[in-house]
Amino acid sequence: MNFDPLTDSGVSPADSLPPTYWHDTVTAPPYLPLEQDFTTDYLVIGGGYTGISAALTLAQSNAGSVTVIDSHSPGFGCAGRNAGFVLSGSGRLGPLALQKRFGMPVAQHIQAEFDGAVSDLLARVQAYNIDCDLTPGPYYKLAHTAEQAQAQAANATALAHQFQQPVTALNRSQLHSELPVQGFYGATRQPGYTLNPLKLIVGLAETAKARGVNIFGASPATAITRSNDGYTIATPGGTIKAGTVLIASNAYSNKKLHPMVNKRQFPVQSSILVTEPLTQTQCVQTGLNRAVSMMDTRKMKYYYRLLPDNRLLFGGRGEVAGKNAHRGQARLHQAMADSFPALRDKTVSHFWSGWVSVSMDSLPRVFFDYEAQIGYAMGYCGAGVSFANMAGRRLAQQATGQPVDSSLPLYNSPLPRFPLASLRRTALRALYSWARITER
Ligand SMILES: Cc1cc2nc3c(=O)[nH]c(=O)nc-3n(C[C@H](O)[C@H](O)[C@H](O)COP(=O)(O)OP(=O)(O)OC[C@H]3O[C@@H](n4cnc5c(N)ncnc54)[C@H](O)[C@@H]3O)c2cc1C
Repeated sequence: MNFDPLTDSGVSPADSLPPTYWHDTVTAPPYLPLEQDFTTDYLVIGGGYTGISAALTLAQSNAGSVTVIDSHSPGFGCAGRNAGFVLSGSGRLGPLALQKRFGMPVAQHIQAEFDGAVSDLLARVQAYNIDCDLTPGPYYKLAHTAEQAQAQAANATALAHQFQQPVTALNRSQLHSELPVQGFYGATRQPGYTLNPLKLIVGLAETAKARGVNIFGASPATAITRSNDGYTIATPGGTIKAGTVLIASNAYSNKKLHPMVNKRQFPVQSSILVTEPLTQTQCVQTGLNRAVSMMDTRKMKYYYRLLPDNRLLFGGRGEVAGKNAHRGQARLHQAMADSFPALRDKTVSHFWSGWVSVSMDSLPRVFFDYEAQIGYAMGYCGAGVSFANMAGRRLAQQATGQPVDSSLPLYNSPLPRFPLASLRRTALRALYSWARITER
């Protein structure tokens, strides 16, 4: 049964690893559970990109002892299940939407931080010599209607001039001469990267371990209590005393972990299928004969890329409830066949789902309470491979009193709480029904 953050109390060490393509490519080393009481200066809860990046940053600044606990193992959450697109941006607001909400100077500043997150990740991969199949290649945003194609072309000009983004608009025939995908009216193209996300988190976790970070797997935080001398965190194998706590459990958080994060994000399922390797002819027929990645402009987006062994990875929205995750495979397969008719009969070798953390106002947050010495980073809305790395760094900087640009809305306010949180899934079902009718 798939884990469901809204109905289960939290990730269990006994949950099985997701059947991803990535798990066939790398075996993560074991991270043993905590089996006695323990004391640490900094405790990081969650071993994904956010948590491991925070831990690594703390270790590098010699701030004190650093410990990461994960309910299951580093990479059990999104970090080990995502599509591996490395793009500039996070949350659900593009640069122009950011401009509308915050004005041009702040929007440009946020975009620069997102761009910096990509550079920062690339620099870490290089500095720590992490073998994660990092590959440069064009990223296409495919317009699914003629109106979207026009809007995309206008956006490309604004993005290039006002945000210095290397974006090129392509009309329908230009798109089809570069990439013979079906059913699209135009696109934008910009540089991007893809990688193997599980290899990345394993590489980062091993780097953190080598720099003195304690990492315990199978050690869920079940309660966080504050006393005069810091925090006591309960885990099944022992309690942890910590001066500072950083919550990096993202959409995989326990239903009730801490008032600071409870009901401040909405876990939404995204699903991925992977095909058997394409033949050389199929690669040429579909334009998937180089390292490309793509996403369409639907509200319920589909995203796809070529894998190093010529398989197609095709992802999109998942089912609302965890127990129904398997139902998404047929819908994804149909969407894949619509875009790539030549692959209609291709066998699916892998299918899995994961939970992305959606914030109420579509913006991620890194928030630290200096008085209480506790903070969190989450709400990436399904775009966190680059920014979660930066968010973990910023969270660690806040925790050690280093300056972080507090003029950025990403860093100067908490995640807004969802009103009527119990109705989130009802609203999501309505949204999916609406999209089924309007976005074919
Ligand atoms: C199907 C899918 C495809 C995606 N594709 C992309 C993509 O191509 N590009 C992109 O930029 N983003 C993508 N994302 C989003 C991206 O993967 C996430 O934003 C990012 O991984 C978040 O990292 P994180 O460290 O914050 O959280 P996670 O990686 O989810 O880690 C959270 C960890 O916390 C642990 N945990 C939870 N509760 C506790 C507790 N109580 N005690 C201890 N540990 C706990 C969990 O076990 C988990 O390991 C995708 C997500 C999904 C699901």
